[in-house]
Amino acid sequence: MLSYQHAYHAGNFADVHKHLTLYTVINYLLRKKTAITYVDTHAGRGLYPLNAQETQRLQEYREGIGPLWQARNELNDPLLIAWQAAVATAQASSATLTHYPGSPWWLSHSLREQDQLRLFELHPGEHEQLSTQELPANAQRVFGDGLAGLEAMLPAITPRLCVLIDPSYERKVEYQEVADTVAYTLEKARHAVVLIWYPLLPAGHHHTLLDALKESGQRKIWRSELLLREPGEQVHGMFGSGMVVINPPWGLDERLAAAMAEITPLLGSSSRYQADWWVGE
Ligand code: SAM
Repeated sequence: MLSYQHAYHAGNFADVHKHLTLYTVINYLLRKKTAITYVDTHAGRGLYPLNAQETQRLQEYREGIGPLWQARNELNDPLLIAWQAAVATAQASSATLTHYPGSPWWLSHSLREQDQLRLFELHPGEHEQLSTQELPANAQRVFGDGLAGLEAMLPAITPRLCVLIDPSYERKVEYQEVADTVAYTLEKARHAVVLIWYPLLPAGHHHTLLDALKESGQRKIWRSELLLREPGEQVHGMFGSGMVVINPPWGLDERLAAAMAEITPLLGSSSRYQADWWVGE
């Protein structure tokens, strides 16, 4: 049974890390006219009102989008300024932070006529919420398993493919399942750009995913991690957010490093960002 609901965590530091990375990748991909199929295997609700009861319970956005929004008029990095301007368009009024846009929002707002978007969501309640979002005609919502759904639609009908895999990892076996689906995806679409989010938890289960990706023989695996606290500072809960990008656009690492250098001090004095090639060319 699925119990995770992203509304409890909407707009937290991990969302900032994930969606800024996604936004940057999309912007690189949009430089060419060739059609893209985007797949969001774990879509969630799409748009999160911050005054929702679930979101108010933990108010995690106060350690994420909140401080960035506060500093929005003093930002210097052009990527960060553009990203914040996009966040502003998701608000009821440009003066107040009322909503946080999830991955379906970021993907659907970048969609051109020639592109396709497939959004998978398995939780009935979350899927119902996603169904209330207005989407362009070339975006399709699917109530079903995202990893199986992705495999079933390969090869994609467009020349390019970009996949976001963002599970809740409620089951430990999901780390391995993600690695297996990624290996299959890259077998069918060698040049696909694949983004995978993972949590940094004291138990360190993300090593299962990273090791399996390395063992698959796939090249060009880049990863970045945003740590809110040092690993030893807490016994429970997520202390950091990780992103793997396979076949990243050239220049992504430097572009994000510059933006993250401006973000980390806003998230607190213990916050830091690190990135490297998990597997090189
Ligand atoms: N990607 C979203 C975003 O960035 O806004 C957040 C997704 S949230 C971390 C994970 C979502 O995956 C939850 O909404 C959960 O209901 C859904 N989910 C869990 N297992 C799934 C599965 N096997 N297939 C599709 N969705 C699933």
